[in-house]
Parts: sequence; structure tokens; C-alpha cells
Amino acid sequence: MAENELQQIHNLLIQLQDVLKKKFALEREIEELPKNLSGKRSELIKANEEFLALTKKYNLAKETANRTALDYETAFNQRVSSEKKMESVTTQREFDALSKEIEEAKITETGLNKAKKATQEEVDNLAALVSEKQAALDAMTAEVSSQEAELEAQVNEKKAEIASYEETCQEIKAQGIADSIYSKFASIVKNKNGLGIVPVHGQVCQGCNMILPVQFVNDVHIGNSTMYCPYCSRILFYEESEDAVDYSAELQNFEEDDQNVTADFGQDVDIDLDNI
Ligand SMILES: [Zn+2]
Repeated sequence: MAENELQQIHNLLIQLQDVLKKKFALEREIEELPKNLSGKRSELIKANEEFLALTKKYNLAKETANRTALDYETAFNQRVSSEKKMESVTTQREFDALSKEIEEAKITETGLNKAKKATQEEVDNLAALVSEKQAALDAMTAEVSSQEAELEAQVNEKKAEIASYEETCQEIKAQGIADSIYSKFASIVKNKNGLGIVPVHGQVCQGCNMILPVQFVNDVHIGNSTMYCPYCSRILFYEESEDAVDYSAELQNFEEDDQNVTADFGQDVDIDLDNI
């Protein structure tokens, strides 16, 4: 591969990096969005359940109140009818028995009248609570719906932006980036804080600050093929730098200690993208 051809690819990758960075940032924003509402959704579900339980309690209270009112009415009628019978009483024995009956009917009637008032009061209190909770629930439902609509609009807007960035990425790719490099590079940009292509200054990768072997740096400098940093997996290009430190002497000693140390370095290094 000619040097200027690789230079051209690197220029394209730098352009691509810029667009990919924006695209990934938007994708992350979308991922974070639904979490904001999940709390409100579960609050709404809980409020709905509570409201359902309250409505059930209210209906039961109404049934009890109705039953008590009927019982009271029956007791009332019974007492009145017993009192009417008093007009046609002829014997003392009948009078005594009826008096007792009326007395008992009065006690039952009074008790049921109290119960009727109490159960009706319970119904009234619950009715007020139901209407209060209904209003709160309606407001909450409306709020969640409006937030969901707003969220959907935001997601759609971001998706449209992402699609437009994706189009730009494909345009840049079409100018000369191979499929294999494109997908690797996109993963690196995504997983390495938006930095997928970095210069080598002297012997140091400017992405991870690791010192690279001399021969490896020479290969990067020659620029025959796309080279990946063996430490951080970023694509490397050579750049002259004034602050470059010469590590060749140190590395020489290092290599003497272990002849195999550079065996894994080279353009064919297998990048494990899952571990980036
Ligand atoms: Zn590196």
C-alpha cells in the first residue's frame, strides 16, 4: 500500500471518528432516556393498584351501608306495626307481651339507626377519598403520558440525527475505508472514549502512553498497512514530535532479557474487540 494511500485512509478515519463520536453519544443518550421515566411508570402502576383497592373498599362500604339502611327500615316498620297492634290489645297478658316486643324493637331500631349513620359516614368519607385520589391519579396519568410523548419526540429526533450521521459515515467509508477496518474502527471509537486513531510520538502510543518496540514503530512509520496498538487496539500513525523520548536503548536491554517479547507485535496482531 502506498504511503499516501494510507495517509488518505488515516485522514478519512479521523473524519469518521468525529462523526462516529457524535453518533455514539446520541445512542448513549437514547439508552439513558427511558430510565428517567421507568420510576414514574412504576409509581403510576402502584397508584393505580392503590386506587383499585380503595374503590373496592368503597363499594363494600356502600353495600354494608345499604344493607344496614334496609335492616333499620325493617326494624322501624316492625316497631310501628307493634305499636299499632297495641290499639287492639284486650288482655293484660297480650299487653305485657306486646310491650316487651315494642321495647326490644326500639332497642334494635336504635342500634341499627346508629349503625346506619356510622356506615353512611364511612361511605361519605370514602367517597371523598375516592374523588381526591381519582383526581391525583388523573393528573399523574396525564403527566406520565405527556412525558412519554415528549420522550418519544426526543428519541425520534435523536434517531433522525443518528441516521444522518450514519449516512455521513457511509459517505466517508465509501471514499476508501475497507469493511473490516470500518467495523473494527467503529468498535474502538465506541469503546475507547471516542478515540480510535492516535499518533505515535517517538515510541509512545498517544492513546495509552505505552512504549512500543522499535521495529513496530518503524513499521508504523513506513506505513505499509494499518497498524493497531497492541496495548489499546487503536489505529496508529506516525507523527514527528519534539518531545519524543528515545527508548530504543532501554528496549534493547528489555529484548535481550526476553527474546520473545516482541513476538506478538506486528500488523497481523489479532485484535480481540470483545475485550476492548
Ligand atoms: Zn495504545
